[in-house]
Amino acid sequence: MTVTPAVSGTAHTTLDDRLEGVYEAIVRRNPAQPEFHQALREVFETVGPVVAKHPEYVEAKLLERICEPERQIIFRVPWTDDRGEVHVNRGFRVEFNSALGPYKGGLRFHPSVDLGIIKFLGFEQLFKNALTGMPIGGGKGGSDFDPKGRSDAEIMRFCQALMTELQRHIGEYTDVPAGDIGVGERELGYLFGQYKRITNRYESGVLTGKGLAWGGARVRREATGYGCVYFVERMLEARDMSLEGRDVVVSGSGNVAIYAIEKVGQLGGRVIACSDSTGFVHEPTGIDVELLKQVKEVERLRMSDYAERRGSGARFVDGSGLWEIPCEVALPCATQNELDGDAAAALVRNGVIAVGEGANMPCTRDAVRTFREAGTAFGPGKAANAGGVATSALEMQQNASRDSWTFEHTEERLLEIMTDIHDACFETADQYGAPGDYVTGANVAGFTRVADAMLALGLI
Ligand code: NDP
Repeated sequence: MTVTPAVSGTAHTTLDDRLEGVYEAIVRRNPAQPEFHQALREVFETVGPVVAKHPEYVEAKLLERICEPERQIIFRVPWTDDRGEVHVNRGFRVEFNSALGPYKGGLRFHPSVDLGIIKFLGFEQLFKNALTGMPIGGGKGGSDFDPKGRSDAEIMRFCQALMTELQRHIGEYTDVPAGDIGVGERELGYLFGQYKRITNRYESGVLTGKGLAWGGARVRREATGYGCVYFVERMLEARDMSLEGRDVVVSGSGNVAIYAIEKVGQLGGRVIACSDSTGFVHEPTGIDVELLKQVKEVERLRMSDYAERRGSGARFVDGSGLWEIPCEVALPCATQNELDGDAAAALVRNGVIAVGEGANMPCTRDAVRTFREAGTAFGPGKAANAGGVATSALEMQQNASRDSWTFEHTEERLLEIMTDIHDACFETADQYGAPGDYVTGANVAGFTRVADAMLALGLI
């Protein structure tokens, strides 16, 4: 059975008339993009007090400008499979905002990819990147290509075809893509190889998430998952608690999920379940992260194969129900809108104390409201999963200076950055009368940084 993400929860909080008008105009102008509307709405619902405090933002139409991408590129990607059959996919790159630095954000390969998905991801990315305090703007891209079941040679031909067009739009000082769902080190290798071949430049800083042997940075692979767990640990510390001894449920079993599971174990917690798009494994004694890496990263198999190799202690359940497993910490690390209002209510009923979004917008609006009303410590994706892009910025820094840092040094920087992001969100929420509300803190702090840079740069 396939687990289908829920459509976003639709209940809206009231906005003041002016903001409601701006929001509705943007929705009318961008029809049939529900995920983009959802991401916009969340930001609009929290930045009201900032806009009220800054009449210069209103006068300069900053909200309207921030919500309109600087550039949206859609292109044809023709490629042939191993039998010689021709396929045509669609490629996207949305260059959202470069006020703080070159556009920066991953590429996603998944059949669900369309312009609305890429725009929601680019919009989130913009504020996330601002929160890191690094000099990076926001962008996102990808394709509706489905990599599942494709051979290495097919993946390579597809990546080469995509880069043949994408290369004219990107560059170390222009736009710097990275991985996301369906795009890991293997795909980035094929993409970088084609970029290098076409441009005749060894421009390491044009992509991040690269392999260590060809310009990659230590800790980039681990960064999003590790960073998410660090963020949750900081949220718990703010409540005089820690991860030690806690049962944790993680969704997904890809890059973010695997390294979140690893870091939970290192900090004394225990991950008792994780999933893929077909179902989940429940293993009360704790997921074996080394076997998980072997099954998912090396052999590219399914969670059902993991359960089979673990034997009787691990149970594979076909379909949904992951969030009904009692736990104290939940880390949704798979995809958007995978955790709905009912799942959030089940988690709260079972005593969840903290939720960290490893994925981008994995919780529906109803789910977020349920957590906030229950007083659960809730770390939104733009803050909690910013460790990946922050470490990408560290990779760019190392590429620019032809340097290579140790694992320990890089991880220390990641920990500092996640702590700073936590503290910025926490303090901003306090200042805006919403103590402990990381959604308000992240949106307001990210928005203000972008808005101030845009004001300083004139009418852009
Ligand atoms: P991967 O492709 O490595 O893994 C994705 C995981 O999520 C897989 O286990 C996949 O299962 C599962 N999944 C994907 N789509 C669905 C679906 N529709 N329903 C249920 N499960 C699904 O991707 P990443 O780990 O890199 O990315 C996961 C999330 O984290 C995404 O939201 C991404 O945007 C976000 N993110 C990633 C960053 C990074 O550095 N990689 C940085 C910041 C955020 P299956 O294999 O069965 O498809």
